[in-house]
Amino acid sequence: MNVSRAWLAGAILIGCSQHATAQQQAQRPQIETTKVEGTDNVYIFRNGNHQAMFVVTGDGVIATDPVAYGRPTGGQAYVDEIRKITKAPIKYLIYSHHHFDHIAGGKAFKDAGAKIVAHQRATQRLKQLQDPHTPLPDESVGNGGRTIKLGGTTLELKYVGLNHSDSTLVMRLPKEKLIFVVDLLPVGRMPARGMIDFYPLEAEDSIKKILAMDWDRLIPGHPDGIGTKKDAQFQLQLLQDASAEMKKLGQGGKCWDTAEKEFQLPKYATLPGYANGLQFVARRYCGLWGRGT
Ligand SMILES: [Zn+2]
Repeated sequence: MNVSRAWLAGAILIGCSQHATAQQQAQRPQIETTKVEGTDNVYIFRNGNHQAMFVVTGDGVIATDPVAYGRPTGGQAYVDEIRKITKAPIKYLIYSHHHFDHIAGGKAFKDAGAKIVAHQRATQRLKQLQDPHTPLPDESVGNGGRTIKLGGTTLELKYVGLNHSDSTLVMRLPKEKLIFVVDLLPVGRMPARGMIDFYPLEAEDSIKKILAMDWDRLIPGHPDGIGTKKDAQFQLQLLQDASAEMKKLGQGGKCWDTAEKEFQLPKYATLPGYANGLQFVARRYCGLWGRGT
């Protein structure tokens, strides 16, 4: 086993130790709120297989992602969970990016008085689509980002370019050295359907920018445990390996059908979601190397 394979095996082992098993996942309640260890006021609200971070301050609450797609009572259930912890006003609801599985369900937050904040590209898209379950943002963040200060908490909203979407905001709590990044950095999991509107080359740059930021722990948008820089580095390596593998096939004239059949990433075969995700990864990189997109 060479050094990189040994490192990889270690990374997978470390990752797996933090992950809920399938059995644990089946047994857990639909909705759950947990405080992030080592923080005074940072929480994770989970609804099924989606989750969001919220921060409670003396002057109000900063919430993110309602995670209520296909869950008509999900937004209110999230507000109710916050209300079990604090009666302070919910001042902000921040959308991590424009995908409905994370941001549908914000009405309960609007009704509670929250201001909805999103990247400007998310606002543009949402205005075009007029999804009945997704209230439009009240405030749009430009590519320069925005910092929210509330009740002694600082939350940075950073735009690092195109990646998993064209509207992703990286949320960083500098004091807690925590980031909340949705879908761009899955923790110990193979990317899958989300590859459909993924920006492969730009995503690598985004991850490098995120790795250069000061943080210790990563909260992802799906409940796969808390990540570290090792997990972000691992995801970057996976994308680079997938890209290099498909580059050979694509430039060899094999996209789409032959390349999609031949594409394998054996180094990652034990990763959760590998068997299902491989086809989506293959198709996206065929688009890049076989089509130029
Ligand atoms: Zn997404």
